Amino acid sequence: MAIRAIEVKGLRKTYRKVEAVRGIDLHVEVGEVFALLGPNGAGKTTTVEILEGYRKRDAGEVQVLGTDPETNERSFKERIGIVLQETSVDPFFTVREVIELYGGFYPNPLPVDEAIEIVGLTDKADERIRRLSGGQQRRLDVALGLAGNPELLFLDEPTTGFDPSARRNAWQMVKDLQSLGKTILLTTHYMDEAQMLAGRVAVIARGEIVAEGPPDALGGRDVAGTKISFVLPPGSPSPPPQVAGNFQILGNSWRSETDAALPILHELTGWAVNNNVELRSLQVSQPTLEDVYLALTGGERDGASESQTVADLAGGKSETGRSR
Ligand code: ATP
Repeated sequence: MAIRAIEVKGLRKTYRKVEAVRGIDLHVEVGEVFALLGPNGAGKTTTVEILEGYRKRDAGEVQVLGTDPETNERSFKERIGIVLQETSVDPFFTVREVIELYGGFYPNPLPVDEAIEIVGLTDKADERIRRLSGGQQRRLDVALGLAGNPELLFLDEPTTGFDPSARRNAWQMVKDLQSLGKTILLTTHYMDEAQMLAGRVAVIARGEIVAEGPPDALGGRDVAGTKISFVLPPGSPSPPPQVAGNFQILGNSWRSETDAALPILHELTGWAVNNNVELRSLQVSQPTLEDVYLALTGGERDGASESQTVADLAGGKSETGRSR
């Protein structure tokens, strides 16, 4: 059987009193884009840093590209790329110079022009970093993650702070990377991003995976009832009982959640057309990924399994993770 890009079983990590990761199982296939979702403090960064070899686990089995990342072998580090939310590089370097510099640490770097082109910075190749816009700097961060031509790329919230068009460009970039055969593990707080990019997602809450699967099917989205809603203008006649019986009516607003949307819509719209009734704001929808996510995580803000003690806070964080 082919080796998976990532295979994790029973992963656990505790920082003093905080059980950050409480028995996680997950796998990522080669060539897949996999997204980790979860509220602040859910354990995403801890998990990802263990996979990258930047943190030690307390328990569990972890294989990344067929290697235990904890062994910290150079040959392993050369096969992964990490894109953090912020990279600190000398602002007086040009884009080309800094990518060349990073690539120099690897045995088989991506040609510099290719890295620049993938992230769409060709016309800024000779610009100094301090002159780049925020969005362009984030593209450069991705180029630095790609400099060593990694098989597996870790992308940490890749579009935080982007304007809508920059986000679309970044999404296209991730798709292009996937078509080059890269495996991508993405953490994000944006549901539309996960929906757009990931073949599968896992939702982490309080250190555990509470749901996992393709975004379209997560939490049974694909088989959940369809919501139908519309507003009936004042003075309109009421739909016949065989239609009206399926709806809850609040003032002029009509709502239904049903497993038989098609016949109800057929009757409803047929009646509306025949009687010349306008169905204002007619909407037919499945639960969104965000609906499912909020239901799974209880809409929580802080997902840590135990609150930090005063001693923890006074002592600060007990370990430091990766940074560039
Ligand atoms: P966010 O979305 O806010 O980045 P996250 O899902 O990445 O959150 P983690 O950073 O993994 O969450 O944190 C999980 C829990 O572990 C939190 O309660 C956090 O305070 C705690 N924690 C993380 N790193 C450390 C550390 N080095 N020392 C002590 N506690 C830590």
